Amino acid sequence: MSVTRRTATNVLLDTALKNFYGAAEEMGLSENLIAILSSSERRLEVSVPVEMDDGSIRVFKGYRVQHSSAIGPAKGGIRFHPDVDVDECEALAMLMTWKCSLAGIPYGGAKGGIACDPLTMSAKEKERMSRAFAARIAPIIGTWQDVPAPDVNTGGQEMVWFMDTISKLRGHVEPGVFTGKPISYWGSKGRTAATGYGVATCGLELLRALGKEPKAATVAVQGFGNVGSYTASTMVEAGAKVLAISDVTGTYYSPKGIDIKKAFEHISSHPKKLLEGFTCDGCEKKGLSDVLFAECDILFPCALEGAINDKTVGEVKAKYIVEGANGPVTPEGDAILDKKGVLVVPDFLANSGGVIGSYFEWAQNLSGYFWTEEEYNSRLMHIMKGNFKLVWDYAQSRKVKMRRAAFMAAIQRVADVERLRGVFL
Ligand code: NAD
Repeated sequence: MSVTRRTATNVLLDTALKNFYGAAEEMGLSENLIAILSSSERRLEVSVPVEMDDGSIRVFKGYRVQHSSAIGPAKGGIRFHPDVDVDECEALAMLMTWKCSLAGIPYGGAKGGIACDPLTMSAKEKERMSRAFAARIAPIIGTWQDVPAPDVNTGGQEMVWFMDTISKLRGHVEPGVFTGKPISYWGSKGRTAATGYGVATCGLELLRALGKEPKAATVAVQGFGNVGSYTASTMVEAGAKVLAISDVTGTYYSPKGIDIKKAFEHISSHPKKLLEGFTCDGCEKKGLSDVLFAECDILFPCALEGAINDKTVGEVKAKYIVEGANGPVTPEGDAILDKKGVLVVPDFLANSGGVIGSYFEWAQNLSGYFWTEEEYNSRLMHIMKGNFKLVWDYAQSRKVKMRRAAFMAAIQRVADVERLRGVFL
């Protein structure tokens, strides 16, 4: 008996469902498990009243969706953005289930957010909104229940407001209920570089699997923010030559190799942390999209979603793509890359260093004992290498693309646990 397939008007949710159904059917998952895993355990909508600085009250809509807690506490970020809605949260929650499962960490998937424009709000308004939201979702979050983290437009400061509110409501300090906290307040050394470090580790493991030397590899990195900058610096440390980097101000290209240390120094002294005005030996400034078209071995798109699409993909010359950003290759772009024979390491494998880092923070919070940065990095590298090998081997043995293999391996682990636990709730 086949169960009705869910569809959604929200593109992100519809794509998440299609990806799930495609992989689940290919791996022969039972219809019962398909029915369970295509639904979310909980979709919570809350109203968030906030006293604005002018004395008026605004009521924002907030959401927390828990897709699965089969493996462990649900895990996923909270974003502040005008476009946040419950379907978008559900799509992202579902992706978190697969990302955590593939990463081999003991979490399910969740996502939340508030539909608001934080850029137009004062710090005090944001604090009141954050605290009211934390109080509203308090009944369904907790160290062993659901552990939120930063996402678009939220960071360490919001996590402190959230955690402080929950701790006060519960009458005790509860650091493990949020991750992504500042180092000075229950955060973790190593977290800043974790995602980029993990992305680069996937690039290096790919080279190794193909029998290539990092020292002979050329690289281009789109985006020089948190993910892109640490991806580039880790590749350079391994001996690769970074031919091009970019940010919103354009592409910076040098056939001699970009001086990444200098680029770091440049952005840290730039008031908006941009590459604007950057130069180094042989450096030439090019257009915004030119980084994507650099002739190189590995292209790391680490900026925004949809960068490699039906319009840009034709000019991509890289042999391999390692997705640092979330969803940087559209489904249309992916199909064309496949025809061109370009191998893609998918986002939820490549950028999982962030959530693995969150798991490290949570583990340290539980034990009340902090690791050194060296311990953090060596454990992260060990896990990333293992996960890369898992997906690589799965793809080789099933003769599927790495993206499909990653979905299948991730779904398999959740399905196995669902089977073990049986249906109760
Ligand atoms: P960030 O804001 O620190 O950096 C983004 C960079 O992209 C900036 O350099 C920005 O100038 C650049 N950029 C934006 N639009 C661009 C364009 N059109 N062309 C070229 N460059 C452009 O963000 P981040 O934290 O590095 O995140 C980047 C991506 O990685 C996002 O998709 C994010 O969801 C994903 N991601 C981040 C983490 C993390 O831990 N930070 C974890 C997993 C996934």
